[in-house]
Amino acid sequence: MPWKGEKDPYKIWLSEIILQQTRVEQGLGYYNRFITQFPTVHKLSQSNENQVFKLWEGLGYYTRCKNLIATAKKVSIELKGMFPASKEGLLSLKGVGPYTAAAIGSFAFGLPLAVVDGNVHRVLSRIFGIKDPIDVPIGKKKLEILAQELLDIKNPATYNQAIMDFGAVICKPKQPECITCPFQKKCFAFKHQAQTKLPIKSKKIKAKQRFIYYLMLDHNGKQLVRKRIGDDIWKGLFEFVLMEKDEPQDIKYLKYLSNWGLKANGIDYQVIDCSEEIVHQLTHQKITCRILHIKVKQSVKVEGYEWKTKNAIQQFPFPRIITRYLGW
Ligand code: SF4
Repeated sequence: MPWKGEKDPYKIWLSEIILQQTRVEQGLGYYNRFITQFPTVHKLSQSNENQVFKLWEGLGYYTRCKNLIATAKKVSIELKGMFPASKEGLLSLKGVGPYTAAAIGSFAFGLPLAVVDGNVHRVLSRIFGIKDPIDVPIGKKKLEILAQELLDIKNPATYNQAIMDFGAVICKPKQPECITCPFQKKCFAFKHQAQTKLPIKSKKIKAKQRFIYYLMLDHNGKQLVRKRIGDDIWKGLFEFVLMEKDEPQDIKYLKYLSNWGLKANGIDYQVIDCSEEIVHQLTHQKITCRILHIKVKQSVKVEGYEWKTKNAIQQFPFPRIITRYLGW
């Protein structure tokens, strides 16, 4: 992985933001494309927001992308391109929490800050037999204190990388390599055969169900789109005309739905296609979506949406659910 052993705070920060809630295999391509297009924090800060969102397209959790742009501007303009070399300074950057601050601080500046990610939670919970749930404040705090006590303050970068790699390769979530593990004799979980029980989580997150239907209205080579605003998923991305419902809608109704402001307003239309059901699972939300491609014979007005040419639309960032349907 290109960010391993990296000392440049810009590259470390970029990789850490991309890898939040993203698997390494998926994040790698994004990281390489970002570094190629924006080799420095100045280049990233000078870019057009849509261009950055376009490059981010498909990674999800778009607040990360918004924070990425805000922090790039702050570091480039206010801090003259220099990332802060202190814990407090790093934590003042948008999108940088304790984990990312510890990663940048220790890897780039050698600060004695212990990283505490999911791997570290698992390793410490198993070796020390910690039974406090890792998703409640008291459990988190206990692990943070322990991680900081264990840190090799002379070599924080090596130590942090080692414990994260150990969690990823040896003390894995499923089927840890206990037989060859150097901590076997001291490990609480091994001694008590509690590998599958540790770490403990207090609750399962119940995902909220959402039913989203997009009307891709087509007229003379143009389509109606808008940029999503407000505090919700996909903020900053573009979308077609949205209908959100509390319950799933069947295809017959969806085709008929064109009553929505079309037939009712005397507008001729033709439903060209209705997509299969597309299910998108996020941590807190399960989204079920269908996209209807509708040709309208007159230009219609929908509050908040604008007609754009298909060429222009291709430059806009869209949620993955839409780009997949469009075959981008
Ligand atoms: S003995 Fe097994 S559970 Fe314990 S630290 Fe090693 S790999 Fe993890």
